[in-house]
Amino acid sequence: MASDLDNIRVVLVRTFHSGNIGSTARAMKTMGLNNLILVNPNDFQLEQALQMAMSADDVVNNATHVESLYEAVKDCAVVTATTARTRGYDLPMLNPAQAAHGLCLSAKKQQVALVFGPERMGLSNEDLVHCTHRVTIPTSPDYSSLNLAAAVQTLSYEVFKQFCALNENVETNIANTETREMPSIENTELFYQHLEESLVDVGFIFKKHPGDVMKKLRRMFSRTQMDQTEMGIMRGILASMQKQNPSNPKK
Ligand code: SAH
Repeated sequence: MASDLDNIRVVLVRTFHSGNIGSTARAMKTMGLNNLILVNPNDFQLEQALQMAMSADDVVNNATHVESLYEAVKDCAVVTATTARTRGYDLPMLNPAQAAHGLCLSAKKQQVALVFGPERMGLSNEDLVHCTHRVTIPTSPDYSSLNLAAAVQTLSYEVFKQFCALNENVETNIANTETREMPSIENTELFYQHLEESLVDVGFIFKKHPGDVMKKLRRMFSRTQMDQTEMGIMRGILASMQKQNPSNPKK
């Protein structure tokens, strides 16, 4: 049965134990999620994964393998990172119900992803650059780190609950909620490239010594949650700036 849940993918980044990949597949399938993407798993053992997957062997067998998180999420409009600890990278922070609600709403029209980190280290700050939101499952302050597949189960359950709630009463939920079209990660990346190029053109940053201005601007823009139309306006402004600049060869 095709549903909005098909637009929600689970991404496992650099998973260490193949058994956790199987347990993840089982957790997903029980909650109606089937799209699994594996980013560079460590020493992937299909047999071990299938042992833990039980009847979710199709999810493991159909999983897509990619080399980078960017590749896994570049066509997505919402990419929610899951972290046990508060991280330096400053993304909008959601609780599980809010995260699931946002994912289900966006999945009505666009591709979205829920991203899980490696067992030991969790997601790195470089991974978080490609995410739009962050969610932490509340836990005891004494021990905040769930087993990877347990974290997948908890968040998949939240997604399934929200999906059922939205589909019971679709009209009221849509009427009350913002349904802006958000840019894909790929379009966001193109915007940042355009911004950097324009700042070089006007001499605000130097190509050879860019410093960390772009990093700070990325953080600032990720807090604004620009939608597709707003990003189009920004790209238009940058293009006009580039045209005005006498030193720009593209003029
Ligand atoms: N030591 C790591 C935990 C890794 S656990 C850290 O502090 O981040 C493996 C993965 O399970 C995490 O990367 C995250 O995706 C998920 N996870 C574990 N506990 C979680 C929690 N409380 N909230 C959200 N995700 C969690």
